[in-house]
Amino acid sequence: MTEEVSVVVVGSCMTDLVSQAPRLPKAGETIHGQKFFIGFGGKGANQCVQAARLGAKTAMVGKVGKDFFGNNYIQNFKDNGVYTAFVEQTSEAATGAASIIVNDAGENAIVIVAGANLLLGDEELQRAQATLETAKVLVCQLEISPHASLQALWMAQKSNVKTIFNPAPAIPDLHADFYKASDIFCCNESEAELLTGCPVATVEDAGRVGLELLNRGCVSVIVTLGPQGCVVLQSTDPTPKHIPTTKVTSVDTTGAGDSFIGALAFYISHYPTMPLEEMARRANLIAAVSVQTTGTQTSYPFKKDLPAELF
Ligand code: ADP
Repeated sequence: MTEEVSVVVVGSCMTDLVSQAPRLPKAGETIHGQKFFIGFGGKGANQCVQAARLGAKTAMVGKVGKDFFGNNYIQNFKDNGVYTAFVEQTSEAATGAASIIVNDAGENAIVIVAGANLLLGDEELQRAQATLETAKVLVCQLEISPHASLQALWMAQKSNVKTIFNPAPAIPDLHADFYKASDIFCCNESEAELLTGCPVATVEDAGRVGLELLNRGCVSVIVTLGPQGCVVLQSTDPTPKHIPTTKVTSVDTTGAGDSFIGALAFYISHYPTMPLEEMARRANLIAAVSVQTTGTQTSYPFKKDLPAELF
């Protein structure tokens, strides 16, 4: 099985514990909410599940707790056809969790405890090394230790495995090596802003900051722009290309960026000679499907639900 894996994601698994209440409680206060649900999240896992749903043979390298949420998360990967041999369980920390309260105005208060995600390190990467080095694409983000993400990117790069790096959540002083280790550096507007210190309000702004990021050493850069699609820049042709998307009625944009990146990983692994702009155009359309229903992974489309021309 492992030698068939085409997409490897080294990243986070988080359980979202979501309570809907009329308002956010004050310190020391207990209030009644009207709805509670548990969702599967974490940027790494989201991207992995989206790639798998499109038909990529996908492996997750991650760490969860030896607890109820960890067991459940592994089952969720299996249900989505993700290879789970490298999702390890630890008794040293709990499965990563995001406790989310949403009020009637749609505002939220969130506490994230990364827990087991932060224990993913060199040993786990070594156990996954053979699979990582024979895959077509590696995807990393910043919800695990940055050291582990960078190690994984280097391992992939040495073996000519294409790397997608999503600098999320963004840190202002991102180490220069992350750019050099990225075949595709893919971020959203606010991450691009934080990394460059330049405001991103328009497509032109995105092109400008994209160029600045490209000049830091990545092979290509994609800046996603919500309903405006994305901007693509490549070192072989650094002119920013705006790739618009279709207008849809968006219901819940949570996890849209992860759907986009999961789709991108799928296209790179399946159609390695497809121009990057075309992959970005198709990834836009897949992410646009995800914003039309509520939830994160629950809103990600499967291949069978999508038009044949996307494949
Ligand atoms: P993030 O989820 O990281 O904030 P974006 O908001 O930029 O990222 O969204 C990522 C991608 O999802 C966009 O490039 C676009 O393809 C798609 N998308 C997001 N919001 C919408 C929307 N309202 N309508 C259509 N597509 C959207």
